[in-house]
Amino acid sequence: MLKRRGNGHMMGKTHALSGALAWLGAVPVIAQERLLGDYAVSLSAEQVAAGAVVCAGAAILPDIDHHNGRIANTFGPITEHMCKWIGKLSGGHRQATHSLLFAVAMGLAMDVLATHYVYAWWACLFMIVGLGLRGVGLDFEGKEPQSALADCALALAAVWLMHNIDMSFVGFAVGLGCFAHVVGDCLTPRGCPVFWPLPYRIDVPVIPRTDGKVERWVVMPVLSLGIAVLAVRSVLGDATTQWLTRG
Ligand SMILES: [Zn+2]
Repeated sequence: MLKRRGNGHMMGKTHALSGALAWLGAVPVIAQERLLGDYAVSLSAEQVAAGAVVCAGAAILPDIDHHNGRIANTFGPITEHMCKWIGKLSGGHRQATHSLLFAVAMGLAMDVLATHYVYAWWACLFMIVGLGLRGVGLDFEGKEPQSALADCALALAAVWLMHNIDMSFVGFAVGLGCFAHVVGDCLTPRGCPVFWPLPYRIDVPVIPRTDGKVERWVVMPVLSLGIAVLAVRSVLGDATTQWLTRG
């Protein structure tokens, strides 16, 4: 696997973990009628699991502005060109795609697609899962066609597994995932233009050197532990989901 050190990137794994954690943490909140009234949604166990996958994948998404990162290699020239153009349009790495506006826009766009254009949504879901898998480091070193094909097969399987699930919540899951990414990058040097197009960058660099010791030995274990706790509560079945979503 490629190791890029000290260049201001947070690892894909960290982003994906933070997306899954944000989702599992949000599930009990969005179920609360007391807070959200008619907007409250209580999800089945399989919806919780599907949402975690979508949110983890979406937490990689803002890095599609980086043309020679691992993400750009996901589906060969297709994603390379996509990332190159998105990078150009968004003003370079860690610009427009690392903002609240991007998170909200992606969430709304996916909501519209999932509700009205289900085939387009499946195509996007395929991309989200594919990029997510690559982002967490699921590739064979130096073996490009094989990596892309394996990724493709897994992403197709994920889309097929999810095609019957009521995914009316995906807009929220995608927006939350993108936002989790932005928050994560804000914790590293360079920060993010959270309020883009306003020109302010926000950085609270508590994670001093990315791909470094703090991230590997503190941030990732803490995120994993949080996910394990919340996931155990949610994957044990509908009874536990009711307990989980009761808030
Ligand atoms: Zn980023």
